[in-house]
Amino acid sequence: MLEIRRLSLHHPAPLHDISFACAAGEVTVILGPNGAGKSTLLHAIGGYYPAAAGEILLAGEALAGIDAARLASCRALIEQHPARPAGMRVADLLHIGVAQADHAMLAQALDLCGCQTLLVRDCASLSGGELQRVHLARALHQLLASKAAQRYLLLDEPTAALDIGAANQQLATLRQLAQRWQLGMVAVLHDVNLALRHADKVLLLKDGRQIAHGDTAQVMTQNRLEQVYDTRLTELGDGHGQRAFIAC
Ligand code: ADP
Ligand code: MG
Repeated sequence: MLEIRRLSLHHPAPLHDISFACAAGEVTVILGPNGAGKSTLLHAIGGYYPAAAGEILLAGEALAGIDAARLASCRALIEQHPARPAGMRVADLLHIGVAQADHAMLAQALDLCGCQTLLVRDCASLSGGELQRVHLARALHQLLASKAAQRYLLLDEPTAALDIGAANQQLATLRQLAQRWQLGMVAVLHDVNLALRHADKVLLLKDGRQIAHGDTAQVMTQNRLEQVYDTRLTELGDGHGQRAFIAC
């Protein structure tokens, strides 16, 4: 279990009294308007920023007390704009941050992310979508090669470079990965409908404050989303329980 207890931060952006938990095998999505503090929260959860108050616990242990090497074995973060190092082949990027390569796991990660044909490419030549897939494979290799009992993948807008179909497919794949390897996942998304469809839990954030957290269907009401995004919405339903929101 990844537990965030009454977390507050002053820098780089203020966060106030955030509390939620993400279990192994579960996908939590952080939603909120631009500048709400989503990326700041994701990086704080990854241990990149020290808490001003509150704490983050990984399998019951304070994240702040875990050294960098051990932290790398139990959590990986994929940036919104992942590195695209010129002159580096994809095959080499896939080993960054991996203490001990696990070739069987790497092969599985490459297959799942559709990266087998990209190995000899220069990172600088990849499209936005290809780069995202390569970084996902690298992060999976980092986590799956480790023997840590609990492992978490943190993703900042993983679908930003993807078309509507590819974005949906990416979220479905992430959910399968979470369940198959019992990874906890926390993803920042902009698309409320992707969250509605693929998240187990949703955290709504506005002005650095937690507006709501809980099961996706319960948290994502029209009223709450209108309040969070300051936008009038229309709710659509297909009559079979699938819902969607459009701005009006
Ligand atoms: P979000 O991901 O929800 O769009 P961020 O966490 O990136 O929001 O940023 C929240 C606020 O903090 C924004 O107003 C942003 O400009 C500011 N901020 C974020 N990082 C920095 C930084 N390194 N230096 C100064 N301001 C920052
Ligand atoms: Mg952001």
